[in-house]
Amino acid sequence: MPVITCSRCGEEKEAVTKTAFYRGEVREKLLAHACQQCWDEWIKMQIMLINEYRLNLMDPATDEFLNKQVLAFFNLGEGDDAATVNYTPPE
Ligand SMILES: [Zn+2]
Repeated sequence: MPVITCSRCGEEKEAVTKTAFYRGEVREKLLAHACQQCWDEWIKMQIMLINEYRLNLMDPATDEFLNKQVLAFFNLGEGDDAATVNYTPPE
């Protein structure tokens, strides 16, 4: 497994290998910059976002939303993509 410097935690760790339904450019960025541990955190965040915003995974707008969120989560967003929702998960 490749070791990368994670863009979220800044540590050198094993890169994530499975990026769920993220594809294309987003997937390439995640494979190159996301560690497995932070990825696991993102998956929890994603579940909360889906519940909070009642996202429909069959809706292309959901893809777009989650693509932006995951890039922002890993500090990989550019321009508008750098914006993230102001969402604090409940304790
Ligand atoms: Zn990390």
